[in-house]
Amino acid sequence: MLIDSHAHLLDERFDEDRGEVIASLSHKGILAVIECATGPADIAAAAQLAAENPAIYAAVGVHPHDARSYTPEVEAQIRELSRQSKVVAIGEIGLDYHYDFSPRPVQQEVLRRQLALARELGLPAVLHNRESTADMLEILREFAPLQGVMHCFSGSLETMKILLDMGLYIGIGGSLTFKNSVKPVEAAKQVPRDRFLIETDSPYLAPVPMRGKRNEPPFTHYVAERLAGLRGQTQEEIQAQAVENTRRLFSKIK
Ligand SMILES: [Zn+2]
Ligand SMILES: [Zn+2]
Repeated sequence: MLIDSHAHLLDERFDEDRGEVIASLSHKGILAVIECATGPADIAAAAQLAAENPAIYAAVGVHPHDARSYTPEVEAQIRELSRQSKVVAIGEIGLDYHYDFSPRPVQQEVLRRQLALARELGLPAVLHNRESTADMLEILREFAPLQGVMHCFSGSLETMKILLDMGLYIGIGGSLTFKNSVKPVEAAKQVPRDRFLIETDSPYLAPVPMRGKRNEPPFTHYVAERLAGLRGQTQEEIQAQAVENTRRLFSKIK
């Protein structure tokens, strides 16, 4: 059994069969899923999805793509929703210099605001970083030590060590299974056994042999299989460790 530590089941690609996907989680080997909100349009819906489904938990926050839409009202809404028992984290938050959908200074300011909020609320942060590592590390240093995960980690071993030293966990997803994968493979081999989480980022980044299809939480098992092979561990060991790590970080998960 596994926990998918990062998914977007509210994405429109699940509109046709969301209920079935959620209903089939437990017999497909999934204990729980953390639904990660992306902005004002879906923070309340993420908390609601979690409230309605025992296996779903939520992270609430504003993604860097949407940083421009972060207002005091949105912050108040995140603070309010975070009191719910199924809301386990602030996320996903971070920096994305690949798309630059919001201006970089705005992304940085909104990341700082939400890291401060996570600290105030005593909740872990779900972090997103794309082509913005130098600025990300500079901002994280202001808040270290930190509680949280760098989701879908694809950086260098040097960056991983800095993140681990700050207290963060490393999120491992479908890119680990890609043929051309180099950095995620190195990270997966080296990450300490008590510091990795497994995720899909559904509906994106489906692992081999499902690459190109819609990603779904049960596909975490392909990631666990690859991870077990790389680390010379059994799949059962990887699963048990991943679940234990996820529960340690997101302590509101039952
Ligand atoms: Zn992300
Ligand atoms: Zn995501």
